[in-house]
Amino acid sequence: MTIQSDPLSTQFHSSGPTVAELRHRAEIPMLVLAGLASVVGVVVAIAATVKGTPIPGWAEAALIGLVAPVFAGVVLIRFMYWKQIANSVEITPNQLPEIYAAYHAMATRMEIEHIPRLYLANGNGGLNAFASKCQVHRTYVVIFSDLIDIAYEHGDFDGVNFVLAHELGHVKCGHVNLWRMAIMAIPRLLFVGRSVVRAQEYTADRCAAYYSPAGARSLMVLMAGKRMYQHVDFDAYRDSIQDHKDGFWLKFVNFWSDHAVGFRRIEPLADIETTGWNVHGKML
Ligand SMILES: [Zn+2]
Repeated sequence: MTIQSDPLSTQFHSSGPTVAELRHRAEIPMLVLAGLASVVGVVVAIAATVKGTPIPGWAEAALIGLVAPVFAGVVLIRFMYWKQIANSVEITPNQLPEIYAAYHAMATRMEIEHIPRLYLANGNGGLNAFASKCQVHRTYVVIFSDLIDIAYEHGDFDGVNFVLAHELGHVKCGHVNLWRMAIMAIPRLLFVGRSVVRAQEYTADRCAAYYSPAGARSLMVLMAGKRMYQHVDFDAYRDSIQDHKDGFWLKFVNFWSDHAVGFRRIEPLADIETTGWNVHGKML
């Protein structure tokens, strides 16, 4: 399940793509929208306070959003980090060394300044991984065991590399920065929050497609499971997507998802192979 990768590196200057080139084109507009919504909320809350009138509930959310990162920076990220890693196994040069070596090499290539610690957690069947903050200036990455299984059971290290590059992409592109949390309170109420996250996920996929192109098709594991994905015919799957109506309901469920749905998420990864880098997943 490897792709015939037209070397994407030929499309950039020698040091590789900039963060701006890696980003999905909707990420910054969505962030600006989220920021503007938060500014309006804060202004309304301040104006209501000055006038002595009750602060509208939605504007209250903006104020809470501003305070939340301070609380998160001091308490929440520490608690969440320790709650997660105290039940996980850190991947080190002496623990799953082949995964560590691949991760370290990937992070170095991606020019991640402080390489986040990497942990293996019991997936209990869930196919997941995430990057998050553990201190204000430090991050960590967790990959769940069912995803690592594809390397050790099927020899699909390319697929694991793709996942690791995706998570490091979140770090590289600043998706775990606390200020992003600050501007998300009102957008979440307006159901725009999911669109911010969805754009960020596309960006992380673009990072992975650049830094680990050979593993892109292994993303089928999310749709077909960690054993069956290797038996899925990729071209037949894409034909099947085309055979479904690209109408309201597909757009709506995609809008309602923080990660783009499979029908949407696979397409840009496949198109990058053939048409080059200027391919962006659909937001709807
Ligand atoms: Zn992600």
